[in-house]
Amino acid sequence: MKKNNLLIFSLSIIFFGCATLKQNNTVKQVEINASIDLVDVNDDKVKVVIDPPKINNDEITFYIPQIVPGTYEYSNFGRFIENIKAFDYKGNELKLNQEDENTWSITEAKKLDKISYLTNDTFDGPDGKAIYPMGGTNYKKNETFLLNLHSMIGYFDGMKENSYRLNIRSPKNLEAFTSLSVISKSDTLDIFSAKRYFHIIDNPILYSEPNAVSFNLDDIKVGLAIYSPTGTHKAKDYQDAIEKMMIAQKKFLGDANNTASYDILLHLMGMEDLQYFGGMMGALEHHTSTTVVFVDQMQAEELTQSLVDVVSHEFFHTLTPLNIHSEEIHNFEYNTPLMSKHLWMYEGTTEYFANLFQINQGLIDEQNFYNRILEKLNYSKRYDDTMSFTEMSSKIVDEPYQTNYGNVYQKGALINMCLDIIIRENSGGERGILSVMQDLAKKYGKEKPFKDNLLIDEIISMTYPQVADFFKNHVEGKVPINYMEYLNKVGLTMGETEVPLPSILFKDNQNPFFEPQPDQDGKVRYVVTGLNDTIESMGVEIGDVFLGLDGKMLPEIKKENAEQINAVFTPSFMWDDKKEFTITIQRNMDKQTLIGITGKPNAKVSGVVEDPNAAEKAIILRTAWLKN
Ligand SMILES: [Zn+2]
Repeated sequence: MKKNNLLIFSLSIIFFGCATLKQNNTVKQVEINASIDLVDVNDDKVKVVIDPPKINNDEITFYIPQIVPGTYEYSNFGRFIENIKAFDYKGNELKLNQEDENTWSITEAKKLDKISYLTNDTFDGPDGKAIYPMGGTNYKKNETFLLNLHSMIGYFDGMKENSYRLNIRSPKNLEAFTSLSVISKSDTLDIFSAKRYFHIIDNPILYSEPNAVSFNLDDIKVGLAIYSPTGTHKAKDYQDAIEKMMIAQKKFLGDANNTASYDILLHLMGMEDLQYFGGMMGALEHHTSTTVVFVDQMQAEELTQSLVDVVSHEFFHTLTPLNIHSEEIHNFEYNTPLMSKHLWMYEGTTEYFANLFQINQGLIDEQNFYNRILEKLNYSKRYDDTMSFTEMSSKIVDEPYQTNYGNVYQKGALINMCLDIIIRENSGGERGILSVMQDLAKKYGKEKPFKDNLLIDEIISMTYPQVADFFKNHVEGKVPINYMEYLNKVGLTMGETEVPLPSILFKDNQNPFFEPQPDQDGKVRYVVTGLNDTIESMGVEIGDVFLGLDGKMLPEIKKENAEQINAVFTPSFMWDDKKEFTITIQRNMDKQTLIGITGKPNAKVSGVVEDPNAAEKAIILRTAWLKN
C-alpha cells in the first residue's frame, strides 16, 4: 500500500498560471477565428476549426501546447488531437506533416484557409490520467463541458500575439461561465474574444445547467459557478463562505490587491470518476479565474472548508506570480519552456499566505494554525530535504526535481514562515514577508518582470543580513532548516497536542490503523496495529484482520489492485461526524461486521504548541507575526 494514495485527499494539488500581458507595440494584426462545436458531439469528441488570416510564408507550423503555466510538467496536449486536416481556400486538402506529438507543419502555407481536427477530452481515454482534472477537459454531451482551452485550441508560429475570436456552438440547456470577454451570447451560439493566445488558455469555460451566483465586494466582482453531477450543490449555498473569505483576503493584502474581477469554476466529479485520476483534486490558477475540481459526495461543511483553503491559495496568486514574476514567466514558451528559480515564492509564499490570512483575520484559531504548520513539517519529510529549492525550481520538469514538486506547498510554505519570523524579529514586529511582497508588487506589477538571477539580492537589500544567510543556506543551498530555531523565537515548542484524524482509517495524524502483513501462506492482509476512539468503541481489536469498510470488501492486497483498494478507502474522507458505517474484520476464524458512528476521533501527537515558559519578548513577537 502506498500511504500517499490513502492520504491523497488531504493533499490538494494546486497550480498557478502566470504568464501576463505582454506589451504589444506592433500594428494590430488580423484575427484568428476558432470554432468549437459542442452540439454535434460524436464518440465523445469535439470538433475544432482554426481559421488564421492569410499567411504570407511558404511554410507554417501549428502547435498545441506541450506545457502550460503553473503545471510544471509536460502535458503534451497534442495527444488529445486526432484527424487533423488542413484545407486551401477551395476546400481541397493540403499536405500536413506531424513533426512531433504537439507540432504540425504545412508546406503550402500561402494556400492555407483553415485547419480542422477532433479533440478528445482528458477525463477518460488512455492518456487522460496523466492530466490533472483541473487542467483538463470533460465532455458530457448535453450535461456539462469543462473546457481548458489549451487542450483544444492551438497557435501558429509567430502568431501568438494575434487576437482570437472564439465561436462556440452550444446546447440550449447549458450556460457558459468564464472570465473570457463576451462579444455575444445566445441560446445556441456564444462568441468570445481573446486579445492574444495567452488569454485563450488563461480563461477556461464551464458549460453547465444554470447554477451560478455573482456579487460585488467593494471594487471586485466575484462569480461562482458549479457543476454538480447529482445537482446536490448549489452556488448560492456557498456565496456567504466565499464572501467572508475574500473580504478577509482583501483586508490582509491591503493595497497589494488590484484585481477587478474573479470567477470560480467549480466542477464536481463523482467518486468513481475521480478514482480514474487516482483521487487527485484541487485547483488550477488563472489570472482572473480559477478552475476547481472536488468530489460531489463531499458534504457541504467539508466542501466549504476545502473551497476556502484552495480558492484562497488561488486568489493569492493574483499577488505572485501575477504582479511579481520573472521574465521566464512573462514570456512563457508553451513548447520550449524555460523555468524560473522562484517556486519558493510563486507557490511557497502563496500557500503560506493562504494559511496565515486565516489566523490573521480570525477565521481559524491559533492551535488550528499550529496544526497546519505541523502538517507541513510532516509532509515535507517525504521529499528530499537536501535539495536546493532554487535549483529544483529551475529544473522542475526533469527528474529528480519533478518528484519533489509537491514540496513547494510544504517546505515552500515553511521557508516563508521562517523568513517572516526573521523579518518580524529584526523590524520590531513592524514588517514581514507580506510587506516585502507589497513593495515588490508596487515596483514590478503585471507588465514588468524581474530578472530571475537578481530577485534574491533585491529582497536582501530590502531587509536584513539574517535574510541573506537564510537564502544562502536554506533556499539556494542544501542545508535542512532547523525549524525549532524559528518556532522558539515566537514562543512555540513541541509538545503533546490533539489533532483531528484525516479519516476514521487512521490511528494518528499520519498513519493508518492497519499495516500489510503476510499470513503463514505468504498472502498479504491488512492487520490492525493501532486504534482510534471510534473503532475501539465499535469493538475492533489489535490483531484483527481488516476485510472491508462500510459494506465494500477489500480485494487481494497487491500493487495491481491499488485502484480498487483506494475505492474502498476514499469515501471515508468525505464522511461527516454523524455517518453510520461498518467495519468488517476477521478474528481467529470468525468474520464479524461491526457498526458505529464516525464521531470526531482525535489523536494525541507530538505537535507545535505554545510554550508556557516563553519569554515576554517571544510572546510579543508571536502576536506581531500572527496579527500584524
Ligand atoms: Zn498555487
